[in-house]
Amino acid sequence: AKREARGHALVFSERHADELSRVRRMEHALHTADLEQEIYILFQPQFDIALNRTTGYEVLARWRSPTLGEVSPGEFIPLAERTGMISKITQTVLRKALAMTETLPRPLRLSVNLSAHDLGSTTAMEAIATLVEQAGRPCRVDFEITETAVMRDIGQANEGLLALLALGSRIALDDFGTGHSSLTHVQKLPLDRIKVDRSFVNEVTSDPTSRAIIKTTVDLCRNLGISCVFEGIETEEQLDALLGLGGTVMQGYLFGRPMSADKVLEHIADENQG
Ligand code: C2E
Ligand code: CA
Ligand code: CA
Ligand code: CA
Repeated sequence: AKREARGHALVFSERHADELSRVRRMEHALHTADLEQEIYILFQPQFDIALNRTTGYEVLARWRSPTLGEVSPGEFIPLAERTGMISKITQTVLRKALAMTETLPRPLRLSVNLSAHDLGSTTAMEAIATLVEQAGRPCRVDFEITETAVMRDIGQANEGLLALLALGSRIALDDFGTGHSSLTHVQKLPLDRIKVDRSFVNEVTSDPTSRAIIKTTVDLCRNLGISCVFEGIETEEQLDALLGLGGTVMQGYLFGRPMSADKVLEHIADENQG
């Protein structure tokens, strides 16, 4: 038994060491990355039920490292957050998104994710505002923020967001329901939409509590005169349940997976054909 335990310990420490070295390699690769070259963006449709058409796309970052290959955002975004690299990534993503609006037919809009690091830094928020401003009017890029991202200093986050609002961007509160003291954030932030987290959408057909939370959020949005977005819709059953609860904007694999710029143009053409 003793020998076995030692065996396990060995396996464990090897695996642990492997993981550590992967993180270290990733950290190094990210630090030395040519972001303009290695970071690219995909677009996921956001479909408006009342208008019966796609009104915009969420912009999702991807990293293709020459040494590590494709790294998922679930891995490199948290790492970039920890090392502060995220603000450079945000700006790269935003530049690419702004360039995309040149070929994206009007009035379609793009929605870019901001990180805690961006929202907590005056310099980063100013750089973001400058990029938006330089792209000219009308502004067609919106932003998504999370509750955890604004938690540290809501006053400071607000300042940066109001500057973006003044340029014509809209602000969505992402992953709603998973953070802390959500209602305080709704009260204090200049929001245009709330995105109900995928975890509730997932359970809408099976869990009465998720359904009740969604219903309450839809009502809240209606009373505030802002739109309610559902993310992560995968099945017709989920969609039916959400339609019954009165949602307005739908996002998820059922409406379209994150796609390349070429595919976006095809997607728009398909939709226009009916
Ligand atoms: P998020 O902002 O909540 O983005 C939605 C995620 O859900 C995306 O994962 C999207 O591909 C995925 N998704 C969409 N529809 C479905 C569905 O029907 N089913 C399932 N299972 N998943 C769906 P992705 O692209 O892997 O991104 C993961 C997270 O990484 C994002 O979550 C966001 O927090 C972060 N992220 C991605 N791009 C950026 C970025 O440019 N900047 C920042 N700060 N964060 C980003
Ligand atoms: Ca998002
Ligand atoms: Ca989300
Ligand atoms: Ca989410």
